[in-house]
Amino acid sequence: MGGRGSCYLNFYDPSNATSGDVNIADILEDILEDEDTKKEYNGKTKKLKEKKIHIKQSTDDMPEDMFIPNITKVDSLTRKYVDTVGTLKNENETLDIRANKLSPNTTACFIHDGTRFNNLHIVFNNDLKLSSKELVEGEAKRQIDSGFWMNVDKNEYVNQTITHEYGHFVQKVLMQRELANREGKMKYEAFLTDLAKAKSKADRQKRVQEYAESYATKYFKSIQRIHRKYFGKEGVDMISNYGKTNNREAFAELFAGLNCCKKPSSICKATEIFLSKKMNVKNFELKTMVG
Ligand SMILES: [Zn+2]
Repeated sequence: MGGRGSCYLNFYDPSNATSGDVNIADILEDILEDEDTKKEYNGKTKKLKEKKIHIKQSTDDMPEDMFIPNITKVDSLTRKYVDTVGTLKNENETLDIRANKLSPNTTACFIHDGTRFNNLHIVFNNDLKLSSKELVEGEAKRQIDSGFWMNVDKNEYVNQTITHEYGHFVQKVLMQRELANREGKMKYEAFLTDLAKAKSKADRQKRVQEYAESYATKYFKSIQRIHRKYFGKEGVDMISNYGKTNNREAFAELFAGLNCCKKPSSICKATEIFLSKKMNVKNFELKTMVG
């Protein structure tokens, strides 16, 4: 099982720094019993299912005042980044939105369970069922004030986590698209050869993470170059401390900052310019970004 977990940590207590790894095998075990939810969410369940995004029964206990804005956010992201849905359809994949038991300091994670980075899941910590919009917002405020999460608009506090996780999905889509060119294909084949040498499940997971990290690093460098071109040299404080842990998290944090702010910061704008070069971004205009 070669899964990658990218966790979105709750990190106001530095002693919890190492609690990030979710047990992917455990989460995947529960998948088969997790059917699609029967809740309609004003027709959004059906609408998203047509886009191959399935809301699962395990989320049924989530507080609706938090979860309905989250679903609405996902729907708007699918309309803005239409190629994300296009890739799901082309690859015959689905993205499941689920809840599961995660370590106490993990709010949510993005996982997949294949070497083609397929079978995608955004998994919320099911402890959130004891939460509410107000509590989630309070938590987001605390994370932002401490500098651990990216700054976002107050009315988007409730959507920050799901947007961050969607950012991991966007990185996955970009990686998938790399396979269309020769260099990307060769790199992927080398990765598969390398993966076959893994001696344990943990070793395998490490190699999968390294492959994803190498692309995240490439993307992050492009974003930095774009930033220098249009906005000047970037400052170290432009990215949240969580985004500084690795470039996969940097990418997801920038995506959250970009899509949860009416007036995104320059580094988030550079991320949008980068994305517009890589995929169809609806209503993107360079002059509004740099003006
Ligand atoms: Zn993450």
